[in-house]
Amino acid sequence: MSIAENIGRIRERMNAAALAAGRDPAEILLVGASKMNGAAACREAIAAGIDALGENRVQEMTAKLAEHAYDGAPLHFIGHLQRNKVRQVVGKAALIQSAGSLELLEEIRRQAEKQGLVQDVLLEVNIGGEESKSGFSPDELYPAAEAARTFPGIRVLGLMTIPPVAEESHGNLPYFEKVSKLYVDISRNLYDNSFKYLSMGMSDDFEDAIAAGATMIRVGSAIFGHRQYQV
Ligand SMILES: *Cc1c(COP(=O)(O)O)cnc(C)c1O
Repeated sequence: MSIAENIGRIRERMNAAALAAGRDPAEILLVGASKMNGAAACREAIAAGIDALGENRVQEMTAKLAEHAYDGAPLHFIGHLQRNKVRQVVGKAALIQSAGSLELLEEIRRQAEKQGLVQDVLLEVNIGGEESKSGFSPDELYPAAEAARTFPGIRVLGLMTIPPVAEESHGNLPYFEKVSKLYVDISRNLYDNSFKYLSMGMSDDFEDAIAAGATMIRVGSAIFGHRQYQV
């Protein structure tokens, strides 16, 4: 199956999941998680109408930017971001989905102000409370969202989450529902209902994420095939 065929099949499944949930399929965006795939694969996905491409590593993103891999689609940063690399991402990524600590938000704000721009971000929620994952705990999220509201240089457009690896099918649905509730509450109570993006769901569980209210899914292997990890 080609990348274009894979995207076509995922769009069909997105539409079906949206309709089953009584939602408008047009309100759900497909982000291609293109890590470990080269510029040619990115261009194929863009030609097939992907809504955005998401990268995990700053070095890889920078190299692919130099190859014009993302021309024609918005670039998102979706991976763990170190503070000393923020400078290389601000102004390059249309959306930083993985803003998961106040220190990181402070640095994004600092770099954005330096460059004289406003950086769009999502707040990452560590909904499973996993030590290994970054992101705000549900308890930290509300005060962080409140603080970020006043940061010049930053515009918070919603939430992103990566739930724990599911042990069984539909295992992540309760996590998606929890984050969806946080999204609705924070948007209403702190952001005048201005939130646009609830980013959750990957190759194995995006239909459940759509059922729970996702407006953006991030799909890698189901589009690009299995990643070849090098040791
Ligand atoms: C790789 C990745 C995805 C996509 O994962 P697949 O299971 O390959 O669809 C989504 N989100 C993030 C943050 C990722 O790193």
